[in-house]
Amino acid sequence: MTFARTILGDVDPSGLGVVNSHDHLIRTGAGEVYLDADHLLDDVDKAVEEATSFVAASRAWADGGTVVDMCPANCGRDVEKLAEVNARVPGLQVIAATGFHREKMYLETRSHWVSRYSVDEIAALLIADITEGVDRHDYSGPIVERTGIRAGVIKVASEYGRITAFEQKCMRAAAIASLETGCPINTHTTYGTCGIEQVDLLTSFGVPADRIAIGHIQRNADVYYLQQILDLGAYLELDGTYRIKYQPDSNRIFEFRELGARGYGDRLLLGTDSGKRGYQKAYGAVTGMDFNAAVDGPRMLDEGFDRDYVDQLLCRNGQEFFAFRGRA
Ligand SMILES: [Zn+2]
Repeated sequence: MTFARTILGDVDPSGLGVVNSHDHLIRTGAGEVYLDADHLLDDVDKAVEEATSFVAASRAWADGGTVVDMCPANCGRDVEKLAEVNARVPGLQVIAATGFHREKMYLETRSHWVSRYSVDEIAALLIADITEGVDRHDYSGPIVERTGIRAGVIKVASEYGRITAFEQKCMRAAAIASLETGCPINTHTTYGTCGIEQVDLLTSFGVPADRIAIGHIQRNADVYYLQQILDLGAYLELDGTYRIKYQPDSNRIFEFRELGARGYGDRLLLGTDSGKRGYQKAYGAVTGMDFNAAVDGPRMLDEGFDRDYVDQLLCRNGQEFFAFRGRA
């Protein structure tokens, strides 16, 4: 029997409701915050407010919703705060991440433990996050204390136009952890580059392509390119909603329409990636974590999409992808 691993335990994937496949409720510090303080999301009350709006919008489509919180190891991850948020929002489920961000987010990496430990040692840490519980200290210090709150997704990432040696090592460890546990891999691409190369690398390490979702890929609004990734068998994760400084939302809607028409509609995941204060309603923005269910879902219906396809995009694809498979 397959399951999805939420922070409260394993659940039937069909119970995940609307799935926000890439977002951020909590980030308590670390490199990304150092680089841009707007990434600091350490306020549980604000996260409760944001998650509440997400669940309220999700209720138009399902009984509730799931936020996949994509904060990976040593990046300000705090699963105990996530659990506090979860406890205060009825109808919410949360999937926590293990794995790694792109090299830049770790600032100076020559002395980072990823550079020092063997691939097998790193994989063992990821596997323990998934099977035992995420470290209370986010693998940010020498003491490891397992919370019992387990990760349900593995993140890997690459830089703009290249996958560094550091990132390749992270991917090798992630592949071992995914094969060992059946946990899905949800990636970060920088500006939608290296999507094909991420799939090629992870599958070369033995990961089945349908266990991989290539993330933020809407930034590369090139349907031919997106189809090449889909033809490798991977999922795409499209987020960056209402990021008008980069592109209009119509690009993403076009991708859903066009890729659906070409037969790829069952491998598209929707996120929002509202991972900054400036992107969340709770901090004063006009849009936030609820965007797919509150804005894009109704918009797609208004633009003539089949209701069943919109349900598939909002709910079923994520339920399918975040289910553990293989040796779980
Ligand atoms: Zn993110």
